[in-house]
Amino acid sequence: MIGLRRRGLLAAAGAGALAACSPRPPGPQAIAGAQWHGVSHARGHRLREARHNGLPPAAITRRTDVLVIGAGIAGLAAARALQSEGIADIALLELEDTAGGNSRGHTLGAQRCPLGAHYLPVPGDAAPEVRGWLAEIGLMRHQAGRWIADERHLAHSPQERLFIDGAWHDGLLPPAEPGSATLAQYRGFAQRVAAAQRLGFAMPTQRAPWTPEHAALDALTFDAWLAREGLADRRLRWYLDYACRDDFGAGLGEVSAWAGLHYFASRHGFSAPGEGDGERDAVFTWPEGNAWLAERLAAPLGERLQPARTVLQVSETREGVLVRAFDERAQRHEAWAARAVLLCVPLFVAARLLDAPPDALREVLTRQAHAPWLVANLQLNAPLLDRLIGAPPAWDNVRYGSASLGYVDAGHQRLDPSPQPTVITLYWALPRAQRGALLEEAAPAWAQRVVDELRPLHPDLPDKLERIVLTRYGHAMSIPVPGLRSSPALAALAQASGRVRFAHADLSAYSVFEEAFTHGDGAGTKLARWLRAAA
Ligand SMILES: Cc1cc2nc3c(=O)[nH]c(=O)nc-3n(C[C@H](O)[C@H](O)[C@H](O)COP(=O)(O)OP(=O)(O)OC[C@H]3O[C@@H](n4cnc5c(N)ncnc54)[C@H](O)[C@@H]3O)c2cc1C
Repeated sequence: MIGLRRRGLLAAAGAGALAACSPRPPGPQAIAGAQWHGVSHARGHRLREARHNGLPPAAITRRTDVLVIGAGIAGLAAARALQSEGIADIALLELEDTAGGNSRGHTLGAQRCPLGAHYLPVPGDAAPEVRGWLAEIGLMRHQAGRWIADERHLAHSPQERLFIDGAWHDGLLPPAEPGSATLAQYRGFAQRVAAAQRLGFAMPTQRAPWTPEHAALDALTFDAWLAREGLADRRLRWYLDYACRDDFGAGLGEVSAWAGLHYFASRHGFSAPGEGDGERDAVFTWPEGNAWLAERLAAPLGERLQPARTVLQVSETREGVLVRAFDERAQRHEAWAARAVLLCVPLFVAARLLDAPPDALREVLTRQAHAPWLVANLQLNAPLLDRLIGAPPAWDNVRYGSASLGYVDAGHQRLDPSPQPTVITLYWALPRAQRGALLEEAAPAWAQRVVDELRPLHPDLPDKLERIVLTRYGHAMSIPVPGLRSSPALAALAQASGRVRFAHADLSAYSVFEEAFTHGDGAGTKLARWLRAAA
């Protein structure tokens, strides 16, 4: 990785000078002027209206061989797979104005920043589809029997730091004194993760075995499992809770023990401080987060990608599938006739679209729970001052004990060390009970909470804050609650055959790039082969 530790110190030193020139503290105006961005709830609600009031006749009918619905990572990967398999006549309908779903980006000032997903761990042997595509776009290469990632796109060092006991520490694991009870518990957890790795865990999850031991872990919460194992240390529990909220949108009291262990066992494992090789998983990242990847998946699709098309209904007919959509730009209803459809939308949306949702889909919906998320992009006119004690500014910056997940700095990958305006992005997986407040309360109220979250770390934040843009996800992702991953209904949906099939990260019970991409790629490939065989 590229060592850029010096930059943080330079930024901190230069920032004071820049802030001194600022004529007014812009923070209060920025909070008052905060705006919602990113997800169009009005378009989503069109679906509910269509179900209540029925649909008017379509103004136009269009035909295509295969229709992909939803241009998130799964839909984009599915469209790519269909094309690679020789199905050229496809259309991809997407509700939003741009493709990417939870992996979209934005520009604030001149700085690109993420609206959702912001990193991808370097994929291993279990993810040949993801790795194959990354090789195709030049991010990875196979050399002398090894896969090598292009370092320019890996998170620069320092990657992450934790604010605890009044100082910044390198890495996110709270420090533990030699000989302390905390260190002993870290070691105990490391041993259990190593044992779990022998059971078999993989990313994507479909490459791991599923044994009665996995099912037993999926039957209880991570919290209950930790209690059973006698792992009660406060620092360890905070760290594990943080990891679960970060990846699954819910804490260790909600996710299954299978999910909690999968987080570590499918990756680099877990090491107590001073043990293991001390290496962290290398991750790809860009200022705009995984939008960088989504944009590269979308570009080759050209006009096959049809954004601003809200799909309202999907009906199987004798000859194929009839889809009703609303063209948000032309403000007209349209009909699409296709031989087959891939539903690459969250499963609860798929259930609303289908005339006759299959029993497996209904069954999964009774088990699923969804995490609401808030993402805040804060445009700063100068870098934040940093306490010069402890670890220097990192890409990912987290406060111990905080309700939010901390922030990433979109300027971190810059090679120019001079202090510059930047955008920081705060992530907040909210308790489910706060979904109503997230959807109903005004943006400035949430902007104030965001600033209050960050002020203990950076008292100078309000002086540098130019603008806040907020994105709210009411149902951001499926939480891997106990019983969901082992549900036969979920497996049945992933294996669905026929003219209407599913591809979405939801099919893995939780949401990350590797899961979404592999489901999309697999569903697109299988559907193309089925259509060829049927022709
Ligand atoms: C805040 C946040 C941060 C995240 N961070 C990371 C991260 O750092 N790394 C990571 O790997 N993952 C992260 N994730 C997980 C992320 O969800 C996955 O990486 C991935 O983007 C999921 O892709 P998908 O295609 O399965 O789903 P989605 O992104 O849900 O895609 C579904 C698509 O369907 C569209 N759609 C829905 N309804 C309709 C309709 N009626 N008509 C037409 N289109 C419709 C949606 O607009 C969307 O584009 C994050 C998620 C969130 C919410």
